[in-house]
Amino acid sequence: MSKRLLTHFFLPFFLALVSSAHGSTAALAVYPVPSAVAGFCQELEKKFADYNWGKPRCEHFQWLTVRKSAKGTPLVWTTFGEEKSAGAANTTLVLCGVHGDEITPVKFCWDLMNELRANHEFKDKMVVVAPVVTPDSFIIPKPTRTNGAGVDVNRNFPTLDWKGEAHKKWVKDYRKDKRKFPGPTPASEQETIFQMNLIKRYKPNKVISVHAPLTLLDYDGPSLKAEAGKSAKELLEQMSQKSSGYKVSNYPIFPGSLGNWAGKENHIPTYTLELPNSDPKETQRFWDLFKDSVIFAITHKMKPTVH
Ligand SMILES: [Zn+2]
Repeated sequence: MSKRLLTHFFLPFFLALVSSAHGSTAALAVYPVPSAVAGFCQELEKKFADYNWGKPRCEHFQWLTVRKSAKGTPLVWTTFGEEKSAGAANTTLVLCGVHGDEITPVKFCWDLMNELRANHEFKDKMVVVAPVVTPDSFIIPKPTRTNGAGVDVNRNFPTLDWKGEAHKKWVKDYRKDKRKFPGPTPASEQETIFQMNLIKRYKPNKVISVHAPLTLLDYDGPSLKAEAGKSAKELLEQMSQKSSGYKVSNYPIFPGSLGNWAGKENHIPTYTLELPNSDPKETQRFWDLFKDSVIFAITHKMKPTVH
């Protein structure tokens, strides 16, 4: 669509005047919700109402979707800032709702999206947010860790050790715990391919994946001891400091995990923020605790890493 058409036709329709928290009046755009996403947004509305989270207001964000889950639910993301102007300079990918029974991260992404929409300029950075990576595990009455096919999406990335280790570990260490099934083959799941494609498309300089309830901040990526990991280390320390000294822990990586695939194998600094619990009533406290940390993270410019 040409810029002129956008300005002359769409903007007058979709501009809304909204008062910001500071009392000033700012024009915040609203957008038509794509038909492929509308049904999913209705499901989300129900969930948000159940959890007393207000409304998701899908029309406040520009949704993109390419693929669907095996059950036909759209896998969606939204972006802030322009791909071409930000380029590879400072792009952050934020992933929430990878495990649907971890309720609080979904709202955390929503709080972040609302903050980015209202209060930030994006001249030199881009943020890509996929707030419900595994929707079929979240929008059901009793959310599950695994996706609609019973696969733990965070054990399904095609890491080098997947074929040799994923099933072996599942049988030996997890005693075939259904919650941690790594899938029939590496990258067998749409939700895994979805995350891989976001990384291939946007080439983020860092990834933040939000989970619960391990109460820690974990890092995978270029060695923090080497020069290559210097700015990644600074960010890890700052993220902890800005959230009241939140515990930094070097949690082990697993065959098929995002940290293993994106961080270790593809050298993208990958931060896993494990919120303290999955209680939907706690989301405001978690946003208050981690807001400065995550805003700092998206603003922090990574120095190019040398592989
Ligand atoms: Zn998780």
